[in-house]
Amino acid sequence: MEKILIVDDSLFQAAGLKKILSGDYEVTVAQTADEGLAYAGSGDFSLILLDVVMPEMDGFTLLKKLQEEIITRSVPVILITSLADIESEQRGLTLGAVDYITKPFHPLIVKARVNTHIKLYQYRKQVEYQSMTDQLTGIANRRRHDLYSITKWKEAGRLQLPFSVCMFDIDHFKAYNDTFGHPAGDKVITAVAQTLTSHLRRATDFAARYGGEEFVAVIVGGEARATFEYLVKIRQEVENLHIPHAANVSEWVTISMGGVTVIPGNNDNYADYLKIADDMLYDAKRFGRNQVVWLGDNGEQWREEQFSNTL
Ligand SMILES: [Mg+2]
Repeated sequence: MEKILIVDDSLFQAAGLKKILSGDYEVTVAQTADEGLAYAGSGDFSLILLDVVMPEMDGFTLLKKLQEEIITRSVPVILITSLADIESEQRGLTLGAVDYITKPFHPLIVKARVNTHIKLYQYRKQVEYQSMTDQLTGIANRRRHDLYSITKWKEAGRLQLPFSVCMFDIDHFKAYNDTFGHPAGDKVITAVAQTLTSHLRRATDFAARYGGEEFVAVIVGGEARATFEYLVKIRQEVENLHIPHAANVSEWVTISMGGVTVIPGNNDNYADYLKIADDMLYDAKRFGRNQVVWLGDNGEQWREEQFSNTL
């Protein structure tokens, strides 16, 4: 069931709206703009019904705040008001409201408008999802990574959580393609993507196909050492698929990985750490491939062989 948030200081009016909609939707009511802002930021609402006239923060101000936040920006907002004048309607639409309902409202009109905007929202989400999915593997694509990583990077900075980014690619992939052909190469890329996603542990662990035979993973919350070991495990899982590689290259298809863990500070930039992960990947290649190289939280480079006794 799609979720709707009603922000209205009048309990009576909110209850009336809730009654109209609660048969078809899961409805949450906030009585102040501040409360509404908090709910909107934490819940996955498909629509917000927002009263314009409220004490302290009014609906226009809240609408502006919702538009400024990445998480709430795309959620459609319908304004509810008795201000039936053109100016406030204009103002609301300029600020990004998708529609306007004026009081006193008719239940069927409210229902019809809400249904329309929920449908549009669902459609848009689906299109958006498709545009951020890699067609070959079904996992996230680079575009989705760009959005996800920045959101999570900010969140980790705000909450002072360790943030890890890992770049990796398939070893000697060109030789594989040259030997077995591109359709076979595509299958290998898909197999690596599946191994990766099936070993992600938490809902926030994220992986995307970055391009070609290149992947990127973002892990928030895990300590550096634990995350390093976690990625070593995934590297081993790929090796354990036992996909035969081209002759004179290696026995099985393998991957090299490079990564870094950091607690983002105010002056830190995600792009710089993505570059560090790429540098670590470069080193992993240089050290002989089929291994994980990490820039640890002690500022030292970690290589798998240093930890071979404990892994
Ligand atoms: Mg009011």
